[in-house]
Formats: sequence, C-alpha cells, structure tokens
Amino acid sequence: MSTVLIIGAGGVGQVVTRKCASLPDVFSKIVLASRTEEKCKAIASQIDRTIETAQVDADNVSELVALFEKVKPFLVINVALPYQDLTIMDACLKVGVHYLDTANYEPIDTAKFEYHWQWAYQEKFEKAGLMALLGSGFDPGATNVFTAYVAKHYFDHIHTLDIIDVNGGDHGYPFATNFNPEINIREVTAECRHWQDGRFVTTPPMSLSQTFECPEDVGVFNIYRMYHEELESLTKHFPTLRKAQFWMSFGDSYLKHLEVLGNVGMTGIEPVNYNGVDIVPIQFLKHLLPDPSTLGPRTHGKTCIGCVVTGIKNGNAQRVYIYNIKDHQDCYKEVQSQAVSYTTGVPAMVGAKMMLEGKWLKPGVWNMEQLDPDPFMHDLNVYGLPWKVVEDPDVNLV
Ligand code: NDP
Repeated sequence: MSTVLIIGAGGVGQVVTRKCASLPDVFSKIVLASRTEEKCKAIASQIDRTIETAQVDADNVSELVALFEKVKPFLVINVALPYQDLTIMDACLKVGVHYLDTANYEPIDTAKFEYHWQWAYQEKFEKAGLMALLGSGFDPGATNVFTAYVAKHYFDHIHTLDIIDVNGGDHGYPFATNFNPEINIREVTAECRHWQDGRFVTTPPMSLSQTFECPEDVGVFNIYRMYHEELESLTKHFPTLRKAQFWMSFGDSYLKHLEVLGNVGMTGIEPVNYNGVDIVPIQFLKHLLPDPSTLGPRTHGKTCIGCVVTGIKNGNAQRVYIYNIKDHQDCYKEVQSQAVSYTTGVPAMVGAKMMLEGKWLKPGVWNMEQLDPDPFMHDLNVYGLPWKVVEDPDVNLV
C-alpha cells in the first residue's frame, strides 16, 4: 500500500488529487485533508475513486501528528500555504513520513522567500532516513528540472539562466490572481533580486521589463524581472552560473490594480485595527477577490513557461530554450482547473511518483535540481506537460 496524504484543498490540491487518483497502481490510497473539510469532500465527490477526507489545522503540529498516526501515510504532499511548511515537516519527523511541497517556507509576518529555514532540516531528515522534496510545482519545480536537464545533456558548464513565466490566459476579470492571492501579491510586490557575478543584486519591484515573443504563436507579452525562490537553490547548485534572472508576464490591468491597491495600503501584511478588530489588509483583499479555483471555466489562452540557458559545450558557446506550453481550456476539460493550478499540480504528482517508485527516494532535504532529471522529464511528457528543447533559439533578452 502506498498511502499519500494531500494537505490543502485549493486550486492546486484539486489537481494533485485528481492526477494521483488517475494512477491507482502508484497511489493506492489517497487521503485529502485541509482546514475546511467540506472543500475536501467537494473535490472527492467529483472523483471516480474513493478519496478519504479529514479536517486538520496544519499550523498545529499535534493535530498533524494525530492525523499522520491515524492515516499512516508513506508521503505527505503539502499544497496548503508556505506558512505551514515547517509545522508539516516537524510532524513528518515525529511520525516518520516523507515530505513534498511546492513553495518554500515563508513566515507570515515577513515576505522573504528563502530556503534557509527548510535547508536547516537537512540533518534531521537524513538521520531519520526520510526525504523532503522542496518546490515540486512548475516554478519552482519543473523549471529547476528543466535547468538540470539541459545542464546534463547540452552543456559542460552553464553560465546564464533566464526563467520566463508567461501566462497568456484571460479570465475576463479586471483583477484576479491565478493562485492564492495572498501569496501571489506578496511575491510580486517584493523587491527584485537577481544573481550577478557571485551575489544577489537588489532592485525595486517591476523596475525592469521587456517584450518576449513566445513560441508556437502563443503571443507577445511584457515580462517583468522579479525575484523567485528557485534562483536561490539553482545558483547554489550550479555555481558556474554568472547571471540568473526570473521574468513573469503581467497585463496592464493587473499592474494598474496592483499599483492602486498598494498605494491605498490594501496589499499590506501588518494588521490594522478597524473598529476594535485586527485586520490584515492583504487577507481581507484575498477575501474579496475571485477564488483562483473558480477561474477554470472562464480562462482562455495559454501558459508558456521555460528557461533560456547559455554556457559551454566542448569548448563552444551554446544556447538553448526549454519550455512547456499549456492551454487553459485543455486543463479545464481534463481536471476542471485553469493551467496555473494544473502546471503546479502535475509536477507535484510526478515528484510524489518519483519518491513512491524509489527513483528519487533518498534521505535528506533536496531541491529538484539535485535529483536525476531524466525520469521526471519523461513523466512530464506522459502526464500532461510535454516540453521542447530548441537549440540556438531566436530569443532576444536583456
Ligand atoms: P489555495 O489558497 O487555493 O489553497 C490553499 C489550501 O490550503 C486551501 O484549501 C486552504 O484551506 C488550505 N490551508 C490554508 N491554511 C491551512 C491550514 N492552516 N491548515 C490546513 N489547510 C490550510 O492555494 P493554491 O492551491 O493556489 O496554492 C497552493 C500552494 O501551491 C501554495 O503554497 C502556493 O504558493 C503553491 N503554488 C506553487 C506554484 C509553483 O509553481 N511552484 C504555483 C502556484 C501555487 P481553506 O480553503 O480553508 O482556506
């Protein structure tokens, strides 16, 4: 029996649960737990297989321990919020359960996006004979494995990395986010950091942009340089990188709304006392915005996420672009979700499959690029995220 416990019944949790359920030989028993059990039950009711559900507050280690002891999972797939990473890792250590997540730990009162809190668990997981796989979504996740794959097969050394995340989807709302609004807004309003000549350089948020033409007629988009957590692990694990940047596309309406909301204080993470009640503005804003898990039926267009990598092979300069394109409506037809939840949920399932099948199972805390990319890349092709490598691409980046 390979029991997995999925924690988090949001947009990503829905996709992971459906994708795991489609592989009963690998995921023989699935339990879905979250803060609101009704959401787990609603997901389970749409799946043609028994999915057990449970209520848990993942901020509370003893509640998690009690649940793990009851369910006895081989692996926990954490698709709740980054705030819960450490409590879930602590509970895994107490009960002896492997761990996987899609976003690095972040304290609720500081938007930091740093791996040091989770890397500090390396020795504890290693000693316990348990594995923690960090960041098994698309970015981080597939982008880390894309980098490792081209580094392995196309280069002797890699020198520059540009990760480009384009969402060419339109949901018809003037302002909505495609994954948890609180996490999304904390991420895009953070200061930008990029890697240059052995150190991170800090610049104001959204201060550098350019246009990017996606392949296969996806379109031309404005992309903005921002900080993203995989830059920290990739520059550590590929020390030959001289420059590494992350770019994301944003539409004018999204940016205008974000600017106004920021100017009036609605994106703040500090509590504000209103009529005797402490309210965190960004949490109230999340409450008002469309739930990303409801965007599936109304989102049209494609995502195009990939990496442009340069370096040296056999003494010659080499450049490649590796990417995946995913159509929002194709995702909706398959799993009733838009492509951002889909492109996160599929790598989470594939990462879990790698661990259950023993292909990636080794004690310690690991980022995706530290494991052999080949079996993961094979499964991305099989389970809905086909990718392409273009050598000497016609791509111009600053
Ligand atoms: P949602 O907000 O849609 O879902 C989060 C779920 O976690 C909700 O069901 C929520 O419960 C539950 N939850 C929150 N707090 C707790 C808690 N204390 N105890 C138990 N359950 C809790 O988010 P998404 O599905 O959009 O995102 C899920 C994760 O995926 C996030 O960490 C996000 O950062 C990550 N992500 C990663 C990406 C990647 O490519 N690597 C891309 C997109 C997202 P409730 O419904 O009660 O609020």
